[in-house]
Amino acid sequence: MPIFNPDIETMDQKELRELQIERLEIVINQAYSNVDFYRKRFDQAGVNPDEIKTFDDLKRIPFTTRKDLIDNYPYGMFAVPLRDVVRLQFPLGTYGNPIVIGYTREDLKIWQELVARIMVGVGITEHDILQVAFNYGLFMGAFRFNQSAELIGAAVVPTSIASAEVQIRILQDFRSTVLVSSPSFALHLIETMMRKGIDPKTLSLKIGLFGAEPWPEGVRKIIEKGLNIHAYDIYGVMELVEPGVAGECAVRSGLHIFEDHFLPEIIDPVTGEVLGAGQEGELVLTTLTTTAYPLLRYRTNDITSLTPEPCPCGRTMARMGRVLKRSDNMISVRGINVFPERVEEVLSRIEGVGPAYSLLATGKHGMNDQLKVRVEVSSDIIDGKEEKKGEIQEVVQQALHRALGLRVEVEFARKGSFT
Ligand SMILES: [Zn+2]
Repeated sequence: MPIFNPDIETMDQKELRELQIERLEIVINQAYSNVDFYRKRFDQAGVNPDEIKTFDDLKRIPFTTRKDLIDNYPYGMFAVPLRDVVRLQFPLGTYGNPIVIGYTREDLKIWQELVARIMVGVGITEHDILQVAFNYGLFMGAFRFNQSAELIGAAVVPTSIASAEVQIRILQDFRSTVLVSSPSFALHLIETMMRKGIDPKTLSLKIGLFGAEPWPEGVRKIIEKGLNIHAYDIYGVMELVEPGVAGECAVRSGLHIFEDHFLPEIIDPVTGEVLGAGQEGELVLTTLTTTAYPLLRYRTNDITSLTPEPCPCGRTMARMGRVLKRSDNMISVRGINVFPERVEEVLSRIEGVGPAYSLLATGKHGMNDQLKVRVEVSSDIIDGKEEKKGEIQEVVQQALHRALGLRVEVEFARKGSFT
């Protein structure tokens, strides 16, 4: 399988480490000089940025968490003046203040290459037609597929949220060769095709790129058979770049992390202790080249492990295991991230509702496609008129839909029934 940037992707590991250290020193200095948050953090921890010279020294830098990004809303984490920022993005579904991420023109160029590396790595060429069925409104990373496909000369059909019927029609008529979507949507397509008696072998599809939610190996098998394709996992972090942090190669034995741009560590999510190769823990990433929004030791909350051994594909960059677990309580429903804190926040604004609630995510094949919110309500609501109860239920449902970008089922419970 061809490699997009062989000089970098197959570079000698010793040289790669040197490149990382060189870039690390630069990014630390930029963060310290230009971001108040980092200057204060370093000073409080008694760390002089000039003293960080080795990977071991890195351990002295405190972690950055999602809460830090929320607390520094809107522009507190930016390391460049706004005039240098060409794109602002906010991941939906976060709680508290939203998070705003900025990218310079240079950041976007790097990101464009990273996704192109993934595409080329799975065999996508200028002859391919990519059907991108991600929700462009909710998942802003979807645009990345357009820009990276342009870089390698492939054509893109951004079908976004078109219904399964329309998507199938486009797959047939346009002869799309690559499907890019959430794995949940691929399953939905397969079900629809089965119902309509469409044989996947009559389609031109060859490859699928799937991400934005955890999907077990069993689901990969169902998708590969149901669509008659090779299905690959891609990985990103919404607070950095998503997609574009890592992707599977044709060997499919872990996802290559683009270590020339991100420095990965695995930590014990409870103690914060750095773990060794092969050990499972939380992935922590330091951006090495990001200019607008540098993140030092960012806790992704994703649980995985790292394999530093070079891969049979020729790439020398470390591989991470597929992410199927989180260290926080975020749940993924149809590719949409739901933070319980966000649900709580929405419920707290509606009179007579809450505070106790529970979330129940359900679905097939170990993936969630439905979310039920059960919440306690005051006795005058639960014992009141059905009509009034229905109205309040509708208010809760709509408020959650707006906040999460996901339609949920709402059930009322009597106060005290959660204890
Ligand atoms: Zn490989």
